[in-house]
This record gives sequence, structure tokens and C-alpha cells, in this order.
Amino acid sequence: MSELTSVSQAEALIAEHMPPFGSELVPLDEAVGRILRQAVRAEHDHPPFDRVMMDGIATRWSQGMPRRLAVAGAQMAGMPRQSLPSGDACLEVTTGAMLPAGCDCVIPIEQLRRDGGDYLLSDECQPQAGQFIHRQATDCAQGSLLLSPGMRLGPAEMALLAANGVAKVEVAVMPSIAIVSTGDELVNVDAPLGEGQIRRSNDTAVRAMLRLEGFARVAMEHIVDDEAATRERIAELLDRHDVLLLSGGVSMGQRDYVPAALAAQGVRKVFHRIAQKPGKPMWFGIGPRGQAVFALPGNPVSALVCATRYARPALLAAQGIPVSAPEHVVLDSEVDINPTLVSFVPARVQTDASGRSMAYPVPSRTSGDFSSLPRTHGFIELPSGQGKAPAGTVATFYRW
Ligand code: AMP
Ligand code: MG
Repeated sequence: MSELTSVSQAEALIAEHMPPFGSELVPLDEAVGRILRQAVRAEHDHPPFDRVMMDGIATRWSQGMPRRLAVAGAQMAGMPRQSLPSGDACLEVTTGAMLPAGCDCVIPIEQLRRDGGDYLLSDECQPQAGQFIHRQATDCAQGSLLLSPGMRLGPAEMALLAANGVAKVEVAVMPSIAIVSTGDELVNVDAPLGEGQIRRSNDTAVRAMLRLEGFARVAMEHIVDDEAATRERIAELLDRHDVLLLSGGVSMGQRDYVPAALAAQGVRKVFHRIAQKPGKPMWFGIGPRGQAVFALPGNPVSALVCATRYARPALLAAQGIPVSAPEHVVLDSEVDINPTLVSFVPARVQTDASGRSMAYPVPSRTSGDFSSLPRTHGFIELPSGQGKAPAGTVATFYRW
């Protein structure tokens, strides 16, 4: 039996061996939700010219300026810059227009009255120099850094790309991921349930987790407990995918064929078995083409804990997303801990007005059941020790 790897070693070994997914150029309309892999700088000043902020007129401000202004033309949004001929004239303007040359004051239409070919300033209108003008480069100057590699492209980021002429975007390659359930006892969600059978659910949980992180190329596969079949299917899956996330078949049972089948297909073991509960049987290795292979334990809670603690952060980091610092919570009540293994304990978390997050542990009776998890937000990680971790203990917390 191999030595147990520690939780922190397992994390570090995965980070060290994960191949980066690389980047690709995609058209802007396919980039939403993807991870940016380039820096984006301002194509031009924002705004690119002194910009009119109100519909109305533009004119030249002066102390005691005339209150009747002759309309000398129009400067509509999108027109090249016009010129004001004299201080007693104005140009009609719309929001978004260039400020005409010779103007430094915009008066909104609400403060004006039309009188033939002139505009009269209403009595309450007290214009200020520079009013309702959005000056060139006051949002940002040409060349300023707007977006950095590692950002996920949401609505605001997409808008910036469009506004700065980025029609093709360099984003992280989306890996092709296979989630593979192993076990003769497993049947599909819509299949009749025979004696001794259960429905597959780990794969649905893991796929949900990945989809919520934007991974769209995810296939679900099932392998029966047969040595030759396991080997054959794993070879096929390694050909077609960049990442395998297997569940089940990695313990020490007589039908646990996964580790040997992986080794037979040239997947190099990085570690097998972690000093943790649940999830001790976890296996990780790298395939011949650099495929990342996570073999998670079959027990549902163990599978989800391992996927959350190891696979998801590794897949995010391989896309170039900076690793975020773990969250901390305070235990609301004491929790049993393991003398030699790190304990992962599902918990509900509530943050009070002062920003302190209290964790309410919901220990699962076994690692074999999802039923207690829906009321939880994730799990606490507690180092090994004697007896119990007391209420008030500060612990790291991982969200599902
Ligand atoms: P194993 O690691 O293959 O010994 O599986 C451990 C336990 O997890 C067994 O009770 C399996 O039936 C169960 N299990 C394995 N894979 C899945 C799955 N995809 N969905 C739900 N339960 C599973
Ligand atoms: Mg099994």
C-alpha cells in the first residue's frame, strides 16, 4: 500500500503537473464567459473627443453672455467637428456629439425657448463655463490597461473589448473533459432501477460544478467493472479528451480496476491516496499527451469534496485564472476531527453584519450520501488532531 500524500502536497503536486490549456483566438461573439489570455489597452482616449452630454445647444461662455443666441447650424452625434462663428451664436447639439470648435458650454433644451431663428435662455438658466461637456480622455487615456489576462469575460469586459476594436480575442482553450463513472451497479437517470442498482449521480454533480465555471465541453461516460473493458474505454477516452474525471474503482476492492488500467494506458501516477477523510482513495496522474487524470473516489460526498478541493481549482488555474486565497470561517460548534487525517466537514455558512462568517457543521453520516448536502454551502477543512475542534476555531472553507 502506498504512502498517503498530505492535502497540501496533493494540491502542490497537481499544480506542478497540470499542463496549461493554452490559448486561442475567437471571434468576439464567442468570447463571453471565456477566460481572457491577453492584455487589452485603450485603443484611443475615452471619450475620444470633448463630448456633448445633453441635447440642446453649444455656445461660448462669457461673463454676462447674451441670452439670445442665433442658431448657426447643428452638430449632431456622429458628425465631424463644426465651428461656432461668433459669441452671439449657437449650434444645435445632441448627446454624444463632438463639442464644436469655439464652444465651451452646453445648455440643455429644457432651459431654452425657441424664437424664430434664435434660442432664448430661460430666466432660471445660469450657464457655467464647461458645463455638460465630457472632456476627452477623462475616462481613460489611449494605451491605458483596461483588461488583464485571467479575467472572465462578462458583460462589462465584453463591452470594453467591443469599444476598443477587439474583434478577435485571445482566450484560454476550453478543455474537452470526460466525466467517467465506473461500476456495474450504476444506471442512468431514466433507466429502470433493478435489484442492487443505484442511479449515477456523481457525474451529474461534477458536471454541474464544471458548467457553473463555464466549462462547456463536458461528456459523461460509464464504464462497467471489467478489467479489459476499463482498459479499452480509458484508452479511447484519453484519445478524445484533455481531462478525465473518473469516479469509483480507485479503492482497494477486487473490482477496482481504474489505477491499473490508467497505468497500462501510459498515464503516469503522480499520487494515489491522500491523508484526508472523506476522499482518501483519490488518484491523480498525467496521460501521454499531457491529459490530466483525476480519479475520484466513488462515494458521492467524497467525489464532490475531491472535485471541489482539487479538480476545479486546478482546471481554473490551467485556464490562467489567478488562484484566489481560501475563505476563512469560524466554527459555530465543536466538530469531531480525525487523529491522523485532515477532515472535510460539510457546513452551512452565514456572514454577519461585521463580515464574520460563521460555519454551522452538517457532518454527513457517511460519505455515501448526497442527501444532507443541499442545505450546505461547502465544507470546512480541519487539520488532524485528537478529539474535537472547539467552537470558535478558525478554519478554511471551500464552496461547492
Ligand atoms: P467505488 O469507489 O467504486 O467502490 O464506489 C464507492 C461507492 O460509491 C459505491 O457504493 C458506489 O455504488 C458509489 N458510486 C460510485 N460511482 C458512483 C456514481 N457515479 N454515482 C453515485 N454513486 C456512485
Ligand atoms: Mg465501484
